[in-house]
Amino acid sequence: MTEQYSQRTRMVHAGTRRSHYGETSEAIYLTQGFVYPDAEAAEARFKGELPAGEESFIYARYGNPTVAMFEDRIAALEGAEAAFATASGMAAVHAALMCQLRAGDHVVAARALFGSCLYIVETLCPRFGIDVTLVDGTDLDQWRTAMREETRVCFLETPSNPTLEIIDIAAVAEIAHSVGARLVVDNVFATPMYQRPIAWGADVVVYSATKHIDGQGRCLGGVILGGNAFIRDEVEPYVKHTGPALSPFNAWVMLKGLETMPLRVAAQTDAAEAVASHLAASRGIERVLYPGLPSHPQHNLVGVQMERPGQVISFEIEGGQAGAFRFLNGLELIRISNNLGDAKSLITHPTTTTHQRLSAEARAALGISDGLVRLSVGLEDPEDLRRDLDRALAAV
Ligand SMILES: *Cc1c(COP(=O)(O)O)cnc(C)c1O
Repeated sequence: MTEQYSQRTRMVHAGTRRSHYGETSEAIYLTQGFVYPDAEAAEARFKGELPAGEESFIYARYGNPTVAMFEDRIAALEGAEAAFATASGMAAVHAALMCQLRAGDHVVAARALFGSCLYIVETLCPRFGIDVTLVDGTDLDQWRTAMREETRVCFLETPSNPTLEIIDIAAVAEIAHSVGARLVVDNVFATPMYQRPIAWGADVVVYSATKHIDGQGRCLGGVILGGNAFIRDEVEPYVKHTGPALSPFNAWVMLKGLETMPLRVAAQTDAAEAVASHLAASRGIERVLYPGLPSHPQHNLVGVQMERPGQVISFEIEGGQAGAFRFLNGLELIRISNNLGDAKSLITHPTTTTHQRLSAEARAALGISDGLVRLSVGLEDPEDLRRDLDRALAAV
C-alpha cells in the first residue's frame, strides 16, 4: 500500500490479499502446501520464474499468504524493505544473528539484554567459534573500544529490560558501520509505534510479536525486518532450511493485532505516563525508572529517537525483596506475570524470575536491585490501576 496513508491507516489495510470471495477480514490460509496446475508450473515455481506481478507459494515453511500479509503490514509500519516472520521472538533473534555469523566472527552486544538473548550471545555464539564482547550500551566509548576488524554484528535492546536504559541507536550504528559491521536492534520495549531503528541507521530490527503486536496474550510470534537483500539472501535460506516458521493461524492473530496496535499502545502509554508520575510522588518507593520522567538518565533521547516513552515502568520498592513481595502480594487488579505489552496490567520481580539465572554481581552491574519491580501497563482505567498500586504500597 502506498506511503500516502498514515501509519494508523496502513495498519488496517497494508498487505491485505483478498481471495476471489472478496472477504472483508483477512483469510486464514491454514495450509502447509500448494498445488500446481501442471508439471511445468511446478518446475517454474521452483525455479522462481513467475509471470510478472504474480505471487506464488511453495511450502509454508518459507511462505504462506496469511504470513505474507502479516510480513507486509509490519514492514509498512517499520519502513523496512522486507520482513520475515518467525515462530517466536527468540526464533527471530536467533535467526537474525546466526544467519549472518560464522566461526571467527566477532559480535559486540549491550550487556542489558533479555535473558534468552543474552544466552544466545554469551553461551551459544562462543560454542560455534564466534567471539563476543559485552559492553555497557549507554557508554559509547565502550562500543568504540570493542570494535575489531572481524566485528560483524552489534546487537542491542533499547529501552533495556528491566532498567529501561536508552541506547543512542544512531551513534552505535555509526560505530558499527565504521568497521563494516551491521547493527541489529531488538525493538520490543519501544514498540514499532514509537521507535523505528532503521530510520536511525540500524540494519536489522527484530520483534517478539508475542508482546504488543498480539497484545492480548494469545500467540507466540516474531519477525525480522531489514533490507531486501538481507531478508531474501540471508534470512530466508536460514529459516527455510532450519524451520522456525510462523504458523498461519498465529500470523493471522498478529495481523489482526496490528489493526488495533496504534490505539492500544497509545492508550497504554497515556496510562503509563499518569501512573509513573503518580508513583514518583508516592511514598514507599525509592526510585522510578521511566523514560517519560525528566529524572530518567537518557530523557533527552525521548521525543527524538523514541517518539513516546512506552508502557513499561520499573520502580524500586523500599525494603528490598521482602518489601517487593509484600507489594506484589498486595495487588489485586495488576497480575503477577513475566509477560509485557498485554491488555492486562502485569508486574514482575526480575531478581527472582526473569533474571534469577544471573549472579548477584551480574544483577548489580545491570542495576537490578532486590526491590526492583517491572510494571507493564495494560488497558484498564488508569484510576483503577492507581488505586490498586496505592493499596499495595500501603501494605508495604
Ligand atoms: C519477550 C522478548 C523476547 C522473546 O520473545 P518470545 O516471543 O517470548 O520468544 C526477546 N526480546 C525481548 C526484548 C523480549 O521482551
